[in-house]
Amino acid sequence: MSTPVRYVLINPEASLFPHVVVIGAGLGGLCLAQGLRRAGISVAVNERDTAEAARAQGHRLHIAERGRWALSEVLPPQLFSLVRAIAGRPASQVTGFDHQLRPTGVFTLDDPASSDVMPAHTVIDRRVLRRILLTGLDDVVHFGRCCVGYDRDGEVVTARFADGSTAQGSVLVAADGIGSVIRAQRLPNARVVDSRTRLIYGRVPLTPELRDALPPTMFSVFNSVAGPGDRFVGIAPVEYREQPAAAAVRLAPEVALEPALDTLAVMFGRRLDRLGCSDQELRAASGRELRDLVLEQLAGWHPLVTEIVERWTLSTLFPIRIRSSVPIPPWPTSNVTLLGDAIHAMSPAAGAGANIALRDAAALTRALAEILTGRTLLAAIGDYERAMIDEGFRMVRLSAANDTRTLGADPLPG
Ligand SMILES: Cc1cc2nc3c(=O)[nH]c(=O)nc-3n(C[C@H](O)[C@H](O)[C@H](O)COP(=O)(O)OP(=O)(O)OC[C@H]3O[C@@H](n4cnc5c(N)ncnc54)[C@H](O)[C@@H]3O)c2cc1C
Repeated sequence: MSTPVRYVLINPEASLFPHVVVIGAGLGGLCLAQGLRRAGISVAVNERDTAEAARAQGHRLHIAERGRWALSEVLPPQLFSLVRAIAGRPASQVTGFDHQLRPTGVFTLDDPASSDVMPAHTVIDRRVLRRILLTGLDDVVHFGRCCVGYDRDGEVVTARFADGSTAQGSVLVAADGIGSVIRAQRLPNARVVDSRTRLIYGRVPLTPELRDALPPTMFSVFNSVAGPGDRFVGIAPVEYREQPAAAAVRLAPEVALEPALDTLAVMFGRRLDRLGCSDQELRAASGRELRDLVLEQLAGWHPLVTEIVERWTLSTLFPIRIRSSVPIPPWPTSNVTLLGDAIHAMSPAAGAGANIALRDAAALTRALAEILTGRTLLAAIGDYERAMIDEGFRMVRLSAANDTRTLGADPLPG
């Protein structure tokens, strides 16, 4: 039996719950904050970015079963209704093509419970989901707070920030993504490796003319167009079921959403050593240079593929270095825990990282809420970590294997 933990009441007026300090306002950290807020647990999120829109957040997310359940658990009902109303519902499949757009196969995605709650597979703009997750958290999320480490003193944990300030709580959660400073201190043996594959990623407006030109089977969750020399183009439609701004007015007027157009999220992927340039050159390249590099790589491909790439909105293009966590054995539990990419970052090749981060957040919310019913803090976090490690590292391995198969990525060590 573990020793009962005496709670330190940082805000004695709040409740008998622990105060939770979260580092990182990505999808996982915000989902946790929503859940804890709903459960009545005191929480503060500290984000390095100076503002919500300080940095491009990526384009599109495939929300599968785990993510859907997590969102339905943590979000206030009107915010979850808004996600349901907006999220696109493409065919529940991944469609394969060769570089001449000849079909190579259809992989039907599990549809375990396309239920009354929401279909198992939906697609949403990442910025829209983040805006919804930030709603109602103005007094909880603090921007411009770059964490540099933490100190533990008994049951109190103190996060330190670059500006010299600190935040104290009885639980510290690392939700600070793949470069987590908390993980570096808490689990110095946990490594992140470079898979050597690179993506160039951007948006294409889905005009009526382009919609008519696409094969109907392309209105799937994801299309994988694979060509010789381990070259790959991923095409994913992002179609709103209802205009986000109008849906917000109807369902959750407190959410400020802007009008948005349907798009294709389009990525090109290849190993860096076959791209003929360095990471520095990729980072320094303009949108036009990135597009031209990809067009060179696609010489001889089907004209519709090159036309889609030509239609990239140049300002939306950026390169991505694909890295992955290396699974490690379980560690002794403490009041410093982790979720999402901070502990199990994975290649996007299985489209699972955000879903698992959301799953972690909902599971950690449930675990911390159990303290109400008399569980000890360490027992609750221990149970959360066991399931999180199992599920997270399983998906890390599966994603890395997909990346190796599709793009010739370096396999995970071990
Ligand atoms: C091209 C691409 C496509 C993808 N598509 C999908 C998909 O369709 N479905 C899916 O499930 N997953 C997808 N993923 C994976 C997904 O993006 C990640 O797994 C997910 O964003 C992880 O969420 P997180 O909250 O753990 O971390 P992050 O989203 O990385 O958030 C971490 C936050 O912590 C902040 N932070 C970092 N350091 C500090 C610090 N020192 N102090 C304070 N704050 C800090 C960061 O600024 C950031 O806001 C994709 C990934 C890529 C690259």
